[in-house]
Amino acid sequence: MMKTAFSRLTLFHYLTVLFWITLITAANHIIEPYAGYRAIGFIYLLLVTILSLIYSFGPVFVAALLSAPIWNYFFIPPKGTFHIHAPEDVMMVVAYFVVASVNGFLTLKIRQYSQKTHQMRLLQESEKLHQTLLNCISHELRTPLTAIVGAATTLQSRTQYPNSDTSSLLTEIISSSERLNHVFENLLDMTRCESGSIKPQLEWFDMTELLHFTMEHLAKFAASHRLHLISEKDSIYFYGDFNLLEHAFANIVRNAVSYSDNGSDITIRIHKELASIVISVVDRGPGIPLENMSSIFDKFYRLPGTPVGGLGLGLSIARNLVETHGGTITVKNNSDKGSTFTTCLPYREPPDSVKETTL
Ligand code: ADP
Repeated sequence: MMKTAFSRLTLFHYLTVLFWITLITAANHIIEPYAGYRAIGFIYLLLVTILSLIYSFGPVFVAALLSAPIWNYFFIPPKGTFHIHAPEDVMMVVAYFVVASVNGFLTLKIRQYSQKTHQMRLLQESEKLHQTLLNCISHELRTPLTAIVGAATTLQSRTQYPNSDTSSLLTEIISSSERLNHVFENLLDMTRCESGSIKPQLEWFDMTELLHFTMEHLAKFAASHRLHLISEKDSIYFYGDFNLLEHAFANIVRNAVSYSDNGSDITIRIHKELASIVISVVDRGPGIPLENMSSIFDKFYRLPGTPVGGLGLGLSIARNLVETHGGTITVKNNSDKGSTFTTCLPYREPPDSVKETTL
């Protein structure tokens, strides 16, 4: 469909170019008795130059290719033949063809260059806007939010009656602010992923420790669930960005909490398997309908009927961050109830110095 539209447009350009050559040739017949046949060559040259400002290389080259013999046939003596008697006229026609083609080609290059410059300027402007938005989210929105959480937590700790209305209102302020903070975090992560501006700070760390950290970080959010961590006795080291991977796992565990019943179990399991570190998050929620499994990692995708309170970004970010580390995330439904999100990261043996520092 696109191809047909494209060839129609190109054909139209070729026909327009032919139309202009015919028109100028007719006009040249009127001008020639006054200006002489040599000046006619300059008029064709002018035409090719103007055409190159409008059309692409193909039609312009055809204009240069056609106008040379037309000039020769209709205007250069002997008229009505392709013979040229005077050697200087032969040179003029050859020079004309070369100059017309080069002229057309160069004008076209200049046009392309100015288009590129314009695109680069647009790109720079959009990057600036993107940076401003990032700064706005990270400073203007998140900083006051952190202050609100801090103030509400202090007030709550000073409340003499933990079961009072004031206390429950403060709890609501804190949990809503934290939810909003999580949304900002995801938006920030997404814009970073999109712009390719994520620069992982690589270091060796123990993956089991990272999962402990994630569980502590989410302890309040997951207070209504039973979180379990099953890990191997030995440390499992990974070379990557601790914070980025923590964001990824926090998103998966958050979902497990959000989409399963209060009081249900969520099990995080980590083990080494051949050349991979395998981390699975098992919940007892509703599971994922088979037909939607490939979509849940898409940006802004939420399963139909999912209660409000999310942007559909968590899994897409998690996948992006894990892929940045050379890993994969997959999901499958459990045989009885709920789903399991499995992350595989490439394992490599840590240097002895890393093992020694944590002994
Ligand atoms: P969000 O949770 O903000 O909506 P996500 O990208 O994290 O966005 O998840 C996309 C969708 O996948 C969710 O809206 C939900 O419908 C579904 N989903 C994610 N995790 C689970 C889970 N553990 N159990 C059931 N459904 C889930």
